Order: sequence, then structure tokens, then C-alpha cells
Amino acid sequence: MTITTDATPKTHPFEADVARLLQLMVHSVYSDKDVFLRELISNATDACEKLRYEALSDAALLGDGGATRITVTLDAEARRLTVEDNGIGMGEAELGEALGTIARSGTRAFMERVANAKDAEGSHLIGQFGVGFYSAFMVADQIEVLSRRAGADTAALWSSDGLGAYSIQPVDVAEAPARGTRVVLHLKADATSYTESHTVERTIKSQSGHVPVPIFLKDGPDADPRQIADGAALWTKPKAAITREEYTDFYRSVAGQFDAPAMTLHYRAEGLHEYSVLAFVPETKPFDLFEPDRMGRMKLYVRRVFITDEAQILPRYLRFVRGLVDSDDLPLNMSREMIQDSPILAAIQKGVANRLLADLDKLAGGEAERYLGIWDNFGAVLKEGLYEDYARRETLLGLARFRTTTASGEWRSLKDYAGSLKENQTAIYYATGGDLDRLASSPQLEGFRARGVEVLLLTDQVDSFWVTAGLDYEGKPFKSVMQGLSDLGQIPLLEGQAPPATASAAVEGFIGFVKSTLGQAVADVRVSERLTESAVCLVAPEHGMDRQMEKLLASAGRLGAQSKPILEINPRHELIAKLSGLDEADTSLREDAAHLLFDEARIADGEQPADPRGFSARLARVIGRAVR
Ligand code: ADP
Repeated sequence: MTITTDATPKTHPFEADVARLLQLMVHSVYSDKDVFLRELISNATDACEKLRYEALSDAALLGDGGATRITVTLDAEARRLTVEDNGIGMGEAELGEALGTIARSGTRAFMERVANAKDAEGSHLIGQFGVGFYSAFMVADQIEVLSRRAGADTAALWSSDGLGAYSIQPVDVAEAPARGTRVVLHLKADATSYTESHTVERTIKSQSGHVPVPIFLKDGPDADPRQIADGAALWTKPKAAITREEYTDFYRSVAGQFDAPAMTLHYRAEGLHEYSVLAFVPETKPFDLFEPDRMGRMKLYVRRVFITDEAQILPRYLRFVRGLVDSDDLPLNMSREMIQDSPILAAIQKGVANRLLADLDKLAGGEAERYLGIWDNFGAVLKEGLYEDYARRETLLGLARFRTTTASGEWRSLKDYAGSLKENQTAIYYATGGDLDRLASSPQLEGFRARGVEVLLLTDQVDSFWVTAGLDYEGKPFKSVMQGLSDLGQIPLLEGQAPPATASAAVEGFIGFVKSTLGQAVADVRVSERLTESAVCLVAPEHGMDRQMEKLLASAGRLGAQSKPILEINPRHELIAKLSGLDEADTSLREDAAHLLFDEARIADGEQPADPRGFSARLARVIGRAVR
């Protein structure tokens, strides 16, 4: 592009994150370079949609620029590919802001992942994540972006070789598009296939064939444009006329993801409110799923006009769903803020969430494997709904799947759990912790195993919250195996299990000694019903927080004082019997043992000994005595 301008270009360094991203892009061995086209067309589409929206309240913005469209021009001789739109455009300041920084929080999360990844893995990550405009540097060694904001009488040129800096300068409007943006890629020597008409046409049709803006292709700078995509929104077509590939391509363009949908929801609601929904559950987890400001990504259209992607169409715990809703009833001239409060939107929100959960439920029944894949990725998010969405908790409990203590280790539903309740079992038992394997071998589970009582193994952070929300399933409350008394006495033992021993006077005496030795460190020391093999374990007092929850809050700095645990002792354990039989005069060994038992219980819970130096000294003394 030769541009006439009097101004000297101002050069700016890229923000550090962009520089790193570019570095990655340029050196990427990622083979699917085609994605840059999808990213540029997606930006062009957004720009056209923004213009259509702003023109609703200011028709003058359209000027005489005609209907929105995207034009891709190939120039084999000059080794150039140009993507031009007549959308909203960018002013000089906007250009620097948009193409010098990284705004999306998702991109930051992505960069962090990449920074921690090995080289090969890093390039693979690009494949899972839309990285936008900068991906064009995979195929170009020089990019110019010439833009004119709709309605403005100035234009500006952004230009960069992607190596660390970009420059911006004002240009004569006569050089610029009447409105919108022209992105010119000077292709690298190994990227000349992007000047071949059939390659580009095929790529665009398959990646972006269903964006709601028509796309034209010019085979040469002077060739006539021919339309290669009609701009008819996919969601307005009947389901039967859409292939799975078309859904996948559309999903990728609307979600900015590179995977395939694990579930597609496409329907039209009729009756009081009429709207179309095309929504997808992704196959893989987005990187920013747990970022505090991660919002939903459902777009809202009104009669084919894009309005906003900030309307929070779905509740937060469905924030992994991507797609759109196109309403027939919302007024087009309503501000985004007013739409947010509109009763029509409220009805849509309710309808879409209900339908989505119903479809997930159907999938769980019909295609269990596929559903479990979704649960594996997003179960931890869906569970937030258990305490956030009281009205739908039954549905959500029905959708929930758990790892439990069953021998097979498979995912279990609460229905499965309820089907294998033991005689006199009055609660649904659970254990919370950070790590599944460690949790499965917790001493607190022993008494439950001995009775064949299944225990849910909850390892997501969110679990500590919903279990305290007072929920029940079929009248059975949720109860921690690590808290309060175990009430296992009523449930018969499996055959071959020795009945629990009652503590002898000697054991009672020893327990009293341990209690006075540990003093303020514990809330109580008592005989355990839940232990069969281990000597000791810790539990939380009946009322208050589960120990896992306390740990979570403490690590987040949101807990003042941690409550004291209860040390439970297994009177049947050989060690306990022996310790109880020690001569009372042997105070130093008895004291060492009391502290070591407490530390043993802490370690079994994945914690550190209370006083590591004291712990080693005591352990050394006790071992020393044993080898004497
Ligand atoms: P994303 O599109 O995900 O925000 P990009 O890096 O692709 O990330 O683009 C950054 C920003 O640049 C966009 O959000 C948009 O504001 C602006 N932009 C890019 N291309 C265009 C375009 N063709 N027209 C108008 N604005 C654009």
C-alpha cells in the first residue's frame, strides 16, 4: 500500500504481553496457520455488527458506505492479502489501544499457560485458543491497518513488522475506506498459498461461511468481487438444513475456540416470547473459567442485529456455554442498560437456562459418555448453581456426578447413590479434600468401608460451599465423614468385620492423658467409631465448618482463627492398646506418643506436624528407644 501523508509516524513499543504473544506466534510451529483468516474475518464481522447497532440510534453513521460487507482481496504478484470491512472502524487512538495491548482477560490467562508450557506445548495451545489479530503475524512479516471510524473525517494507519514496535500516523481520508478498516498482510515467502483463490475461498467458507455479514472475494486487485458467503445467519436456518460441520465452524467463529461443541442447542421459542437460540457447550475447558471476572459469552441479537455480549443471558454457573439468542420481541431502540432490566430478557434468560439444563439431562440419559465428558470439564462450575440458584437445585443435583468410594471409581449420580443406601443409613456421606487419591485413603472413611457405606469424594473447591447450603437429596441430608460424631453405630457391619471394641478403662485413662497433654491444641480427644485400621484421625466439631472449608478460607486469608479439631482414637488398634498399658511413670514416652499421634493424624490429612522441630525430636527419641 502506498499512502500519501505529511505526518511522521509515531512509533510505540508493544505492551510486554503482546510482544511475548507475537514472539510465540512468529516462532510457532503451529501448523494450522489458516486460523488467522478466521480471526480477521471475525474482527471484521464484529466491526460490521457494531456499526449496525450504533446506526440504530444514529443513522448518519452509515453515510453512503452501503450495506455492511467484508471483502478479501488477493494479490499474488505483490504477495498480499487484504481483508476489508465497512464496519465501525477505528480512530487513531483506538488503533493504538486495540492493536498494541491485550484487553481480554482470557488472553492473559492463555499467556500465563504458555509461559509455563514447554515450546511444543505452547504452539499446541494456540490451537486451542483464539488469539485474535496478532495471529496474522504467523503468515505476514508486515501488516498495515488503515482505518476510518464511521462518521469521522479523519483516518489513520497502523503498521508493524510484529517485532516489538508498531507505528501510527494520520492519513488523508481520500486514501482510506469510506468507513471501516482495511487490513493488509504482506505475506511471508512460505505463505504465498494465501494468494491462491481456491485455498482462500475454501478456508473462508469452512471457517467463516456462516457469519452474519456477506463475504466477497477478489482474485486480484482489479478483479470483480464475487460473493462467497451469503451472510445469512446460521441460526435462522432450519435445523435439518444444517450439517454437523456447519455447526462446528459456526461454533468456532462465535466462541473463538478451536475445539468442537460437545453439545449443540438450537431451537426457536414460540408463544409469549419469540426468539431463536443457538448455543454450544465446548468440548474443552476455556483457560479463564475460574477467573473472578469471567462472564458468560452469550451474544444477544434483536432481529439479526447484534446488540451486546454483556447481557448475562445465562446464570454465572453456565458461563462455559457459548452462542447466541436472537429475540424477535425486544425493541431495537432500547439501550443496552435498559435491555438488561427488561422483563422480556428475564423471560428469555429463564427459558434458555431451563432448556439448557433439560438438554443436559437428556444427554446424561441418552449419551452418558458424552455427558460425563462435559461434567468432567464443567461440573465444578455447574456445582456453583447448587448454592446460587435455589430454584434449580433439584435439577442440578440430578445432573451432578461424583467420584465415590465404590470400588470401580466411576462417576456416580445421586440416584445411583440413593439406590445403594445401607440399612438405617440416614445421610448422604461425603469427604472433602484437595486430592482424590489421598481422600480415598483417608482414615476417616474406614468405618464407612467396613459397613459398605458409599462416600462421595469431593475435591473441587466449590464443594466445601454447596455442601453447607442445607441441601438434601430425597430427604437425606449431606453429612461430612470428617465432622461431628459419625452416627455409624446403627448401620450393620459387612460380614467378616469385627464389631467395634468398647474402650477399656486403660484406654479411657490413656485418652484422658492425651487430652491433658495436648491441652489447647485440640477441642477434644475421644474414642472413634469411624476408625477400623488407623490408630487416629482428626474431625471437625459437629457445628461449624468442615476442616477442608476452613483450610480453603484460611489459605485465602479470609479466616480469623481456625477452630480446633477433635482427635479420635481407635481403641482396637494394637498401638493404642500398648500405649494404654504403659506404666504411668513412663511420662516422657507417653507424652511423646500423645504428640506423635496428633501429628500422625495431621499428616494423614495432608497437613504439617504442628511443630516440625518438636516432631523430629520426639520421633528420634521414640525410634531410639525402639532400637535400643
Ligand atoms: P478481539 O477481537 O478478541 O478483541 P483482537 O486482537 O483480534 O482481539 O482485536 C483487538 C481489538 O481490535 C478488537 O477488540 C477491536 O476493538 C479492534 N479491531 C480489530 N479488528 C478490527 C476491525 N476490523 N474493525 C474494528 N475494530 C477492530
